Amino acid sequence: AIEFQNVSKSFGDTMVIPDMNLSIAQGELFVLVGTSGSGKTTSLKMVNRLEEPTEGNIFISGKKAKDYPLQQLRWSMGYILQQIALFPTMTVAQNIAVIPEMKKVSKKEINRLVDDLLAKVGLDPDKYRNRMPSELSGGEQQRIGILRAIASKPDIVLMDEPFGALDPLSRTTLQDLILDLHKELDNTIIFVTHDMDEAMKLGDRIGIMGDGELLQVGTPRELAQNPTNDFVRDFFRSSA
Ligand code: ATP
Repeated sequence: AIEFQNVSKSFGDTMVIPDMNLSIAQGELFVLVGTSGSGKTTSLKMVNRLEEPTEGNIFISGKKAKDYPLQQLRWSMGYILQQIALFPTMTVAQNIAVIPEMKKVSKKEINRLVDDLLAKVGLDPDKYRNRMPSELSGGEQQRIGILRAIASKPDIVLMDEPFGALDPLSRTTLQDLILDLHKELDNTIIFVTHDMDEAMKLGDRIGIMGDGELLQVGTPRELAQNPTNDFVRDFFRSSA
């Protein structure tokens, strides 16, 4: 589980998150949605300590994030960004296996893992394992980025607008992939997006952010039935 307890964050004199409290259950796919600048990315980065809270704490499995050795914390989490930077001089297989290699998993096991993962996202292992990132489409690169982030089966995966740059079809395919992988791995996911349709499709629960505050937290159904803020109301009005 991931728990934000009275977390605040300021940059210099600017307070961007005044007081955040949120509890995300083990195995939950939690979507943070909100407009640009509302504090989604900052919230996410405090979980893997790319940013530190100014005050308050984030608890991961009951222990303060800041009490974990940084490497252990980062290795236990996948992190997926909109612009996935694959290592350009490494093959697809080497890119996927970066963390397992560091963890000294055997060559044989790594080969099997890479082939399994490629097959899972609909890429023929024989065709793709030895390609270079420059020989992949944008959607394919994003898929490899996702595989790299989940190759060591992290308990927690953080995703920051992972499909923002993709065409609608690739986007839909990868959303379905995330749902499948989530079901299979039973991991905890925090997924950041500004797209309410995407949030409604993916989220077990959704947190609506505005100006650094969680305006409403609930299941897609709860939000649809009882929207308590304009962002949610406008969404359902325009999609009705
Ligand atoms: P977007 O959807 O545009 O990515 P977001 O909801 O993820 O937005 P954040 O990136 O978390 O928003 O930013 C929240 C606020 O904090 C913004 O006003 C931003 O300008 C500010 N901010 C973020 N990082 C820094 C930083 N390193 N220094 C100063 N201000 C920052």
